[in-house]
Amino acid sequence: MLAMAYVFLEHPTSIEHDTAAHPGQAAITIHPEQPSRLAAIERALSAGDWLGFERVLAPAVDRSVLTAVHPERYVASIERACASGGGHLDVDTVVSERSFDAALHAAGGAVRMVDLLLDGDASAAFSSHRPPGHHALPSEAMGFCLFNNIAVAAQYALDARHLERVMILDWDVHHGNSTNQVFHASNQVLFASIHQSPLFPGTGPADDVGEGEGTGFTVNLPVPPGSGDEVWVSLIEHVVVPLARAFEPQLVLVSAGYDAHRDDPLADCNVTDHGFAAMAQALSAACESLAAPVGGVLEGGYALGALGRSVVATLQGFSAPAAASASARAPEAGVAPIARQARDRLAEWWPQLGRR
Ligand SMILES: [Zn+2]
Repeated sequence: MLAMAYVFLEHPTSIEHDTAAHPGQAAITIHPEQPSRLAAIERALSAGDWLGFERVLAPAVDRSVLTAVHPERYVASIERACASGGGHLDVDTVVSERSFDAALHAAGGAVRMVDLLLDGDASAAFSSHRPPGHHALPSEAMGFCLFNNIAVAAQYALDARHLERVMILDWDVHHGNSTNQVFHASNQVLFASIHQSPLFPGTGPADDVGEGEGTGFTVNLPVPPGSGDEVWVSLIEHVVVPLARAFEPQLVLVSAGYDAHRDDPLADCNVTDHGFAAMAQALSAACESLAAPVGGVLEGGYALGALGRSVVATLQGFSAPAAASASARAPEAGVAPIARQARDRLAEWWPQLGRR
């Protein structure tokens, strides 16, 4: 059965995760990972009548699902830090009293999204929560992140839903170091990340390809500062999509950050709203032909207007891939040199990407 429902998962606790709370410190700066990010997304989507997406409340994640990625001792330490009023967990990761609940719903939204997609209740979906997740190591909060929402969801898809092949595409401008680490030795999760280098957190070189059975299933695609639509879209069309066709995932999850946008204050890439639309369209069209449902999990994105517009562009791409792909970039646009190099490099593990 092919459902044509589109679902947008959210929860009010996301807004109660207060990164401006610095007990003992003067509130001198606005933290970039702020509650108004979600208001900006909601404003942009409501202006377009939610693009046909049904809004669904995210449940809190089951503790046993969460601890498949994050040890109970770490989960309890975050719970305690929040219950005692919060504060800084590292130089840029801040929690408030409500942050633990927010983090449980952020992970729970991603997990619920997996169920909706696999049960055929949604053909595409987006989990829009704070805090983000892809930097949160199993036992260490990092880079605004407490729990790795997308890794928890992917692990759930393997453990509880018995999938054998899950693809995670991370298009946040920062490398998804935690996701990279969690699935480093797995051949069941193909992790592909496009990220600016050099930039925080400094991981994700092209020669980090995974380890053991997972060798070749970690695909790092670093791009230089200044990279724009041409580079990013070409990497999706000419590297990520062919990888998906070769891997044949049963589910595709996107670490959907929007800080590669040209307006973003935290990085130096030049992706436009149109670029995010083209990336979502190309990926979604491939997913449609592979009969793999696709779901986005919000990561970064700190220019509020650009964030709202880019989420709209993503949901449009997810919900109308076939129509949109017909009008995608002209085929004669060619392969960006960085994508050609990546294909040559990856052909060692994925011969389908080699030159014919
Ligand atoms: Zn980021």
